[in-house]
Amino acid sequence: MSGRYGRLTDRLAALEVAGRRRRLRPLSVTGPTTARLGGQELVVFCSNDYLGLAHHPAVRAAWTGGATGSARLISGDRPTHHALEEALTDLYGRPATLLSSGYHANLALLTTVLERGDVVASDALNHASIIDGVRLSRADKVIVPHNQPEALPADARLAVIEGLYSMDGDRPPVAAYQGTHWLAVDEAHSFGVIGPEGRGTAAAQGATPDFVVGTLGKAIGAYGAFIIGPPALRALLLSAGRTFIFTTGLPEPAAAAALTGLRLSRAEGLREQLSANVARLRQGLSQEGLCALGQDHIVPVVCGPRTMAIAAALLEAGFYAPGIRPPTVAPGTERIRLTASAAHTDDQIDGLIEALSAAVRGCQ
Ligand code: PMP
Repeated sequence: MSGRYGRLTDRLAALEVAGRRRRLRPLSVTGPTTARLGGQELVVFCSNDYLGLAHHPAVRAAWTGGATGSARLISGDRPTHHALEEALTDLYGRPATLLSSGYHANLALLTTVLERGDVVASDALNHASIIDGVRLSRADKVIVPHNQPEALPADARLAVIEGLYSMDGDRPPVAAYQGTHWLAVDEAHSFGVIGPEGRGTAAAQGATPDFVVGTLGKAIGAYGAFIIGPPALRALLLSAGRTFIFTTGLPEPAAAAALTGLRLSRAEGLREQLSANVARLRQGLSQEGLCALGQDHIVPVVCGPRTMAIAAALLEAGFYAPGIRPPTVAPGTERIRLTASAAHTDDQIDGLIEALSAAVRGCQ
């Protein structure tokens, strides 16, 4: 270690050696599923814009209005926030509270409902925002093996799971997690796509968790997030939810875009188009002998240690889907995480399958 910031540069060097240093890639978006990176035209297969709504003309036109200038409890509360909360409340039949992002929502929910001394049971594959929310809550954490509700501790106050796991692309058996303890389901990747009216995996399985988190920056094509729960939860979030109270209110344009995206997500046959694209992609991969996890629009293809070389070959061929490596996934299960969008064309899907198959063969 040397110099004032030697500790930081040493840490960076260690990440580099371990192959874990990450870098940004500024994409100039050219269409619903296309972008330019440097001089290269790419088809993007890794966005969470599952319905193609981020590029929809009506959603883009809805981005109007201003920043809120303060927390909602000070002078940052707007009629658009309430209109969006009402639409989400109507959808779930229980009060919705807007948060600035899914990350904020998980932190607000977990730190508000849990207290020191509670036992919280968290699935082993839960997202970083759930892990951090659990840590901040000061509750005692029990990590439950992935999708094994039978392993829940008997004294849990709360079990937390996801509706569609972001790296494995699989759904949990939600009803099997219900019990005398509370259940929270993070539907970040399932909201807008899965279940009746896009309410998520819990609704698809006829289950009613105590708390639901949903994001507006993925399938809805906007930005922000929400929490559904009993009326007491909304009241408590407004008075005790630290990431609700101590942060600037969601910008009005984001709330307006989310309202439009929410309406369109249920109105334009986009979910049916996404299902057709998922089926085409999964079938094509399987015909090439490439095995994908899950059944939905997150399509992880486990390639092992060759993953980063395969991702580089894919990029060379004009398809952008990054390799996912440790610590995000376990060593040996490195994977190309593909995501399907309703906006992908048949040609784009067929081209990707061909390119991935060639990249896998080329990297053997
Ligand atoms: N939960 C899960 C399961 C996620 O995958 C993500 C983001 N990838 C979030 C929460 C955070 O959502 P946001 O991007 O809106 O902060």
